[in-house]
Amino acid sequence: MNFIETRGNDGQKPSSITFSQAILSPMSSFGGVYSPERLPQFDEGFFKSHVNSGYKKLAKDILALFEVDIAESVIDDALSLYDNFDDPRNPVPVVKVYDDLYVSELYHGPTRAFKDMALQPFGKVLSAVAQERNEKYLILAATSGDTGPAALETFKNRDNVQVVCLYPDGGTSDVQRLQMVTEDAKNLKVIGIHGDFDDAQTALKHLLTSEAFAKTLQEKDISLSAANSVNFGRIIFQTIYHIYSYLELVRQQAIALGDKVYLNVPSGNFGNALGGYYAYKMGLPVKQIHIASNSNNVLTKFITTGKYDLRNVSVIPTTSPAMDILKSSNIERILFDLLGAERTKELMLQLDNDKFYELSAAELAKVQMIFAADFCTDQEGLDYIKQAFEVGYLMCPHTATCFKAYETCRADKSIKTIAYSTAEWTKFSPVIASTLTGKVVKHDREALDIIAKKANVKIPAQIADLFSKEISQKTVIDKEDIEKEILSFLKA
Ligand SMILES: *Cc1c(COP(=O)(O)O)cnc(C)c1O
Repeated sequence: MNFIETRGNDGQKPSSITFSQAILSPMSSFGGVYSPERLPQFDEGFFKSHVNSGYKKLAKDILALFEVDIAESVIDDALSLYDNFDDPRNPVPVVKVYDDLYVSELYHGPTRAFKDMALQPFGKVLSAVAQERNEKYLILAATSGDTGPAALETFKNRDNVQVVCLYPDGGTSDVQRLQMVTEDAKNLKVIGIHGDFDDAQTALKHLLTSEAFAKTLQEKDISLSAANSVNFGRIIFQTIYHIYSYLELVRQQAIALGDKVYLNVPSGNFGNALGGYYAYKMGLPVKQIHIASNSNNVLTKFITTGKYDLRNVSVIPTTSPAMDILKSSNIERILFDLLGAERTKELMLQLDNDKFYELSAAELAKVQMIFAADFCTDQEGLDYIKQAFEVGYLMCPHTATCFKAYETCRADKSIKTIAYSTAEWTKFSPVIASTLTGKVVKHDREALDIIAKKANVKIPAQIADLFSKEISQKTVIDKEDIEKEILSFLKA
């Protein structure tokens, strides 16, 4: 199957490309991205025949429906990485929290956040495609804390790919920083910046669009690529667990095959929710998708009013930092799917120029057919963490935002909800420990022990071991020096 451009064609870029091309060069004409030209459809027997197939088999059969141009042996190797999750037979446990609320836990991989679900296999696939073409790629990533560790973990020691990861020094949790600075591989470079996440992101965008930088790389025979969620190579792997979670509810006899469910997704860049949307369009019985946000509630306003409004808003730092995002890149693929390329181009240009666009009533109705949304303040989120803990469920502040949407977005209370847990408690332990004990706990090391004791859970080795690992990535610099630092890394 081929991939086509969300903003139409400019006569320069190819208007239709294969999956492997889309993952190497994810940007299309007029600043758009690539989307599947049509979505495969599940036939009647698909769900029935996959109720008892494991995660890898389900994944392989879904990738086959997309007709990806990747060798079967590469796919098998990539999917075998799910064997490194806590329980290889069940990499995505689905846990009943209330009678009609099930939480699908997407954080049981090596870096304890949902980014591993896609980045683990994606890293293997991208490196294999680059090797096959005998091309070298530089992947630049700016991270506020979860993408960085997951990208470093998946690409370390892989051939034909080098990764430079920029993080705001002092702007991540201790655990997140240690996950990055203890990664020791010669194809990885981690750079701390004096500044905040926006500074790191701005520096990255500058490099990605700099002709001089591209030329310097070209002289070294290196191409630039991106591992963020505009890359369809990530989205495809984020479609699978929505289907798996649904089948898990069938296995647990919470629903019968064919019953509809609500999906409830803590959202930032909308990659996770987009995967759920595609699963629905392919035929998964979904009644509606509920989009949970934190106080950065641009998405809630968009879905409830049709207005995407970035005028006079700035990012509010919250206890769920992975969702502190205003411009959700993957909304573009929803617009494209519902409204077509011409209208998508028009709306995205308006957003660039005026920081605002508004859907017509008919367009908004299409969005609201499948999406509803609400946002959750930090205080509300902490209350949900406490409430869930009282019934024996420990969760992170991102997951907590779903509990608000669960309460407010369901029109039909007889339908069960699958909410997604996107990070383990270990990545955001100080705020959770403070909430559960009523005392201020500042440091991750102390908070991890407090929660482990109080909840009678073990700190997983991937996290506990971080504190005794050697720090191999020591670079912390001013943002003016980033380019120089990257070039000297590439030379080494
Ligand atoms: C990345 C991330 C999100 C947001 O996911 P999107 O696909 O960008 O919407 C939510 N929670 C956590 C913990 C994350 O790491």
